[in-house]
Amino acid sequence: MTAKNQTPILQHLVDITGHRDHSRLELSVVSALRQLMDIRRVRKLEFSTHNGATSVRPMLLLDEGQVLAESEHAGPEHGEPLSAYPELLDCIEENTNSTQRIDADGTVTLWLPVRLDQKVVSCIEITNDKAYSAQTIEVIHGIIEVYRNYQSLLDYSERDALTGLFNRKTFDEQFARYARGSTPPGERRGADTQWLAVVDIDHFKQVNDRFGHVYGDEVLILVANLLRSSFRANDRIFRFGGEEFVVLLRSADLDSARSIFERFRQNIEEYDFPQVGRVTVSVGFTGTSQGAPVEILGHADQALYYAKQHGRNQVCFYEELMSSGALQVADVAHNDVELF
Ligand code: GH3
Ligand code: MG
Ligand code: MG
Repeated sequence: MTAKNQTPILQHLVDITGHRDHSRLELSVVSALRQLMDIRRVRKLEFSTHNGATSVRPMLLLDEGQVLAESEHAGPEHGEPLSAYPELLDCIEENTNSTQRIDADGTVTLWLPVRLDQKVVSCIEITNDKAYSAQTIEVIHGIIEVYRNYQSLLDYSERDALTGLFNRKTFDEQFARYARGSTPPGERRGADTQWLAVVDIDHFKQVNDRFGHVYGDEVLILVANLLRSSFRANDRIFRFGGEEFVVLLRSADLDSARSIFERFRQNIEEYDFPQVGRVTVSVGFTGTSQGAPVEILGHADQALYYAKQHGRNQVCFYEELMSSGALQVADVAHNDVELF
């Protein structure tokens, strides 16, 4: 099948670039592809690197012609190794824009890697029953190119320039949406247990004072890297401001949440920061199943404040502080950690 005519393409381009949300952007790309040509299945393959190994997690966006908005259709949480996709691996290594495989039964699979800053972050995989004409391939490439460009603009506006982590604005948007229950695919509130932690570097002002801002910035970048390597791909990490970070931890029970945050705290404590030496962090965390976003954030902040007041370099859990009486509702007034 070929593109029908120019007008629907323009209409789809308007649609694609009208979104400020990645999952809706992806769905509009999928519906553009679907309406302009026959496609059996579209998957987005998400890439993540852990301990030097790249894994691929398939997210289903369209199956048997049906657009699927919810990605509970996602593949296994930890994904498959990239080596399970040899054609794609070659395409990435050779830095080409697409590759395809034709199976014995005539099924054609097309892979289009999506790169951000030279790095492949995801890939669109299109499966069809028969080969695509050269013109169709050209249209697909065009749409994916628009998607890539727009995705990189979106990504730029969502991230903090120094650390590359999501910024405060992105946190506010995502968390408000999560709390309202109108979450992007795979992020339904209550569907899995989430924990919110506020992380603050201890005595960071001293780092700047003793070593200068350049070293201070270097510490922030290294802490961001340690955050990335200490949490899983589907946890979310934000730079909230200065030397403060927020982590949204997914699908963990209380005991594992506690030990994951504790392990992160320890990773920082044990890390040898060039020139600066040892740095520690304090962490306050809370459950996210109830309350408005500001309340949840306020609880994590109070636990953080408690950690700061009681020796720093520790992880405190809000609900536990409350039930043990260590923290009382009246203490809220003493909370001098920046909340809003
Ligand atoms: P505490 O243990 O109580 O958190 O002490 P602290 O010194 O970390 O806390 P405070 O909030 O007083 O200091 C935070 C410092 O972080 C102040 C500011 O100079 C520094 N800072 C904020 N943003 C940046 C940044 O982008 N780069 C650098 N180098 N420093 C920053
Ligand atoms: Mg601090
Ligand atoms: Mg601070």
